[in-house]
Amino acid sequence: MDFNKSFLDGMVGVGDMILLDSLSEDSLLQNVKERFKNDEIYTYIGNVVISVNPYKQLDIFTPEKIEEYRNCNLYQLKPHIYAVADDAYQSLRDRDRDQCILITGESGAGKTEASKLVMSYVAAVCGKGAEVNQVKEQLLQSNPVLEAFGNAKTSRNDNSSRFGKYMDIEFDFKGDPVGGVISNYLLEKSRVVNHVKGERNFHVFYQLLAGGDVEFLKKLKLKPDCTAYSYLNKDSSSLNGMGDAENFRTVKNAMKIIGFSDAEATSLYELVAVILNLGNVEIKGQFQASGMSSCYITNMQVIRDICSLIGLDPSVMENVFSARTVETKQEKVVTALNASQGMYARDALAKNMYDRLFSWLVQRINESIKVSEFQGKKVMGVLDIYGFEILEKNSFEQFIINYCNEKLQQIFIQMTLREEQEEYAREGIAWTRVDFFDNEIICNLIEASTKSILAILDEECLRPGTVTDATFLEKLGQQLKDHKHFKSKASQNDKRITDVTLPDNAFRIEHYAGQVNYNTEGFLDKNNDLLYRDLSQAMWKSKHELLRSLFPDGDPKNASLKRPPTVSCQFKTSVSTLMKNLYAKNPNYIRCLKPNGTKKAALFEDQLVKTQIRYLGLLENVRVRRAGFAYRQDYASFLDRYKLVSKQTWPQWKGDARAGVEVFLSEIKYPANEIAYGRTKIFIRTPSTLFDLEERRKKKL
Ligand code: ADP
Ligand code: MG
Repeated sequence: MDFNKSFLDGMVGVGDMILLDSLSEDSLLQNVKERFKNDEIYTYIGNVVISVNPYKQLDIFTPEKIEEYRNCNLYQLKPHIYAVADDAYQSLRDRDRDQCILITGESGAGKTEASKLVMSYVAAVCGKGAEVNQVKEQLLQSNPVLEAFGNAKTSRNDNSSRFGKYMDIEFDFKGDPVGGVISNYLLEKSRVVNHVKGERNFHVFYQLLAGGDVEFLKKLKLKPDCTAYSYLNKDSSSLNGMGDAENFRTVKNAMKIIGFSDAEATSLYELVAVILNLGNVEIKGQFQASGMSSCYITNMQVIRDICSLIGLDPSVMENVFSARTVETKQEKVVTALNASQGMYARDALAKNMYDRLFSWLVQRINESIKVSEFQGKKVMGVLDIYGFEILEKNSFEQFIINYCNEKLQQIFIQMTLREEQEEYAREGIAWTRVDFFDNEIICNLIEASTKSILAILDEECLRPGTVTDATFLEKLGQQLKDHKHFKSKASQNDKRITDVTLPDNAFRIEHYAGQVNYNTEGFLDKNNDLLYRDLSQAMWKSKHELLRSLFPDGDPKNASLKRPPTVSCQFKTSVSTLMKNLYAKNPNYIRCLKPNGTKKAALFEDQLVKTQIRYLGLLENVRVRRAGFAYRQDYASFLDRYKLVSKQTWPQWKGDARAGVEVFLSEIKYPANEIAYGRTKIFIRTPSTLFDLEERRKKKL
């Protein structure tokens, strides 16, 4: 992509960071800040667009704006996400190159909004036939449905996506959309049973209670009252202003457009109701005569309600919350659960059911929007995924998220360099290898098939005997202690590491974006993610068709099946598929920054943004972009802008554009390695040369 750098004049700061005079995290920060203060939320780094969340409605997303950027002459236009969308779309349609749009940034930075802007831009500029419009509608309407089930209010974002999403939009040879495929990554299912005060559970629960009509709710054994449900923290105040009732109707309508039958939608909501009710099942402990503790359900009516919804004998459900079957090779032993084990089983069931329901939802949408393989299909992939995360306490979830970001960084460097090399080859310019920090060593530390953190984690999870988070940590220490990017204390009195900022129960990875300590508590459990077989078997016994289909592992015929792959193993596989998929496409980047931690308009917190600039690797990004030649431009535009610096080319140059450029540049006598003449473009190595040209131009004006 080549953006004509019109933003050299009349602009706030520089529109492209490649043109920054001095290069440091601070200069990037100051430039973004100055622009943000003037409502310029977009800034380029070459063809990467940086977007700062304005937290207010700007008038730059109108149909008129879309028209402006459509087939635009970027010469006169300011940096915009539409420019990137347009470039990607045109390159897909006219040059037959599959595209991917990678959107990263931390929670609340504007990724999901950006992905919707891209989708709506593409929808606006492509074909308009009735059939095409239907496909477009279906693709766009997948957003509200997935957001209802996969988004929640958090302290950082009122509409925070709690899952990663990649969507391939598929086009025919004319560039009209014909369908798509969505992949989802790791839903934060723990939110179903637990969330901190001030946050909410997934939107759908509130939407259903606020928007479902009385008869429907009655059928679902629900009351239109959030305070009645323990999984909603018995908190109705959080409802304010979210427009839940209205969103319920939007989602219902969206499902209809996508092609859900009424029966399917009802089934879906039935299971949502089951989950809400599960949270209200109360379990108390009791002592048996034998001295063993056991538990019982104090409100069987709730169980009966749930079971009437899913067509299950209430005693089956009662049993799985109070006892557990442990199978060994020889025998089956049924042991009683105590109250906290009973509650654990209840929550495990609710979380798992929701997680499986969400995956089903994605699959169901895919059924509607997928197209069969056909010749000449072109693809635009849009990735909206959680950015690098460093919290006060980092756990398994952060580890997985940061692993994914480490891979994205790796593919970013690879693809950017590849793109540069390709352009140089096309233009017939010699490429000299530039070295960058290659984070492969960190990726390997995490994911290599042996002697890596994931390998050791899986070994521990599958190893019989007493394994704990502590034995896992110990093993990590033994096997990885010599790795440059890894640290952990072998024991409480390990003298080797004097660093007090590394706790005893944590290991540290030196990521490309900085150091992170990961507390190993819960790693094994979360990675195993085992649902008692009793629970899935119980669900499989229900007469609810959708529910049964979610628990195929409960089918006794499948009882002999191997244990399912661990969470990290599944994630590693899907990340690897994703990377292959991305690598096969031409990349476009949208990197989102959050200006403040309080969702306020016009507030820019330096420290907060600086951290994000680091985590996104923006400085490296500019360096890679400037590695060979910082600036390039086609001869005609370049001549047009600078021809007035020489009497020979001003006011008019009669020959071809390249010859004209050669004439005025040779007059100035820049050092030979500053300038290279490509087939269609002029290349300038350092920004200062360009600034010098600008100065000369201004003097002549
Ligand atoms: P992320 O997906 O990165 O967590 P979102 O895209 O959900 O963040 O954005 C969070 C919130 O910020 C949105 O709900 C919206 O209020 C605001 N926001 C994001 N992008 C824009 C934008 N371009 N214009 C106005 N508000 C925005
Ligand atoms: Mg999001």
